Amino acid sequence: MTQLYNKVALIGLGLIAGSMALAVRRAGLAGEIVGHARSAETRKTALDIGLVDAVFDTAAEAAQGADLVVLCVPVGVMGAIAQEIAPHLAQNATVSDVGSVKKAIIEAVQPHMPDHVHFIPAHPLAGTEHSGPRAGFADLFKNRWCLFTPLPDTDRAYVERLQKLWSLMGANVEEMDAEHHDLVLAVTSHTPHLIAYTMVGVADDLQRVANKEVIDFSAAGFRDFTRIAASDPTMWRDVFLNNKEATLEILGRFTEELFDLQRAIRRGDGEQLFDHFTRTRAIRRSIIDAGQDTNAPNFGRDPKAGD
Ligand code: NAP
Repeated sequence: MTQLYNKVALIGLGLIAGSMALAVRRAGLAGEIVGHARSAETRKTALDIGLVDAVFDTAAEAAQGADLVVLCVPVGVMGAIAQEIAPHLAQNATVSDVGSVKKAIIEAVQPHMPDHVHFIPAHPLAGTEHSGPRAGFADLFKNRWCLFTPLPDTDRAYVERLQKLWSLMGANVEEMDAEHHDLVLAVTSHTPHLIAYTMVGVADDLQRVANKEVIDFSAAGFRDFTRIAASDPTMWRDVFLNNKEATLEILGRFTEELFDLQRAIRRGDGEQLFDHFTRTRAIRRSIIDAGQDTNAPNFGRDPKAGD
């Protein structure tokens, strides 16, 4: 047990905050965990299931006296919350966030931060398609990356303390600049989500023609798309609105590749298709070698569970 902070305030009490609360508590990293969420229902649930020791009706009250405040709300409301809590932040408090984009959050939050606090942006690369306080679990961050995009003049002692918190929650920590983060995530997460949302929409249109067959005969590939496309609409709307440039850049490249493969199919160019699929298969192998996924058939799911 290494207590790193006296009082941790989680603003937003959904999947990520809930998982943080459970992981922080399990490892004894904080003296006290408090929280705030928009709705009374979420606040009550978080208290009832023991995620936090206390809840507050406003973010400002929750942040008061905390030595770590983590913004766990959708990307689009980070700036407004930062503005609200700013006058109430303790001397030398650390303010962090878990948002899925970094440049836009820094631009929205940093101008509100008083000189006596340390703003340290971060993003855990961990999640599920579920949301809300009941979706959290203590192992969510285990062996996952947490990317830090600290500003150049931030006091390193505060960065290192926060990185230690994430390490002790089970995550691997890495630093990069915000712009690079947004480009990497556009490739690995944001554009794939957009593609899944598109594909499921196409199938839904087709379903009206094919009369339920899309669901009845849904095979693993499509089912994986539907799982991704079940992710929270507010969160993902905000991600695309706030990582516009990088997503459009990657989407442009994706469209070019797609046209290329489309042409190969039309021309019957088996060699091009085979070479392409061989290259992508090697990427899957390297992800497994890096310990970021399982090699078990069907992602290790129990076939009887039907998920
Ligand atoms: P979530 O489960 O939907 O929870 C969001 C929380 O924010 C809820 O407690 C919600 O309260 C609260 N909230 C929303 N608007 C608010 C407002 N205006 N004022 C105060 N509270 C507000 O979301 P999540 O998955 O934990 O995501 C939170 C953040 O983590 C997002 O920035 C997201 O980009 C990032 N992230 C998500 C994932 C993922 O896979 N889910 C992974 C990494 C990072 P109510 O319940 O009362 O509405």
